[in-house]
This record gives sequence, structure tokens and C-alpha cells, in this order.
Amino acid sequence: MGEAAKVKTVCGYCGTGCGLVVEVDNNKIVKIRGDKEAPVNKGQTCVKGSFAYEYVHDKSRLTSPLIRKAGQLVETTWEEAYAFIAEKLEAIKSQFGPEAITMFATARSTNEVNYVTQKFMRTVIGSNNIDGCNRT
Ligand code: SF4
Repeated sequence: MGEAAKVKTVCGYCGTGCGLVVEVDNNKIVKIRGDKEAPVNKGQTCVKGSFAYEYVHDKSRLTSPLIRKAGQLVETTWEEAYAFIAEKLEAIKSQFGPEAITMFATARSTNEVNYVTQKFMRTVIGSNNIDGCNRT
């Protein structure tokens, strides 16, 4: 085990946005602590920010999209997955109208991602049906 690299980042578990220092050794997270220089948390974190990272290296995590074919979920490419989603959204929109589509955003995304999400719904889909836990 060599010296762990220290990588500063922002916790994505909730909208508080605590600064974290992630210690990475041999491409694996070995420790996370609060960033004392982060104005939001000044080195403090809750239990999730410091300890809930073992899932990152869990072998059961999905590493590619899945599409159900003949009743079975099968791995596919991102290109095929996006084309599949676009085809289904277009079909729903043309058959039932844009108001038949709803999107839920998440506080685990950045402000920028949430901005793009509402833009997509309003300009591409043509619906104001967007909501998410991040407005509470
Ligand atoms: S460390 Fe806890 S309080 Fe801070 S952003 Fe992460 S989940 Fe939220």
C-alpha cells in the first residue's frame, strides 16, 4: 500500500454540499474525512459523508445500461439505451401528449444538472411536469 492521494470533492448525498477529502490508494477509496477548508462544514460531516462509500467498489454495481429484451435484462451500450429512451418518449408524447410525461429531479445532482433537467422537460418534451426532493 503506497501513500494515498488526497482528492477534494463535494459530498453528493444531500443538498448541504459538505466539502470532503477522499483518500485514494491503488484506485480505491480508503478513507473520507471532512474538508476543514470547506466553508459549509469546516471539517465536519454526517455519517454518510464519512463512511458510506464501500458501495463504490461493490462488484454488484451496474457498469453498463440494461434493456429488457424478451423478458430478460441484457447489457447494452449507452448509445442503444439513449436511442431506446428517446424512441419511447417520442411514442408517449405523440400518442398521449407532453403532459403524459413527468420527470423527478434529485438533490443528489448538482444545480447545473437540475437546470438542464428542467430545460429538457420544458423545451424538448414541452411539459412543466417536473418535480424533485430538492425543492423541500
Ligand atoms: S456529509 Fe452528510 S450533511 Fe454533508 S453533504 Fe454529505 S450527506 Fe449531507
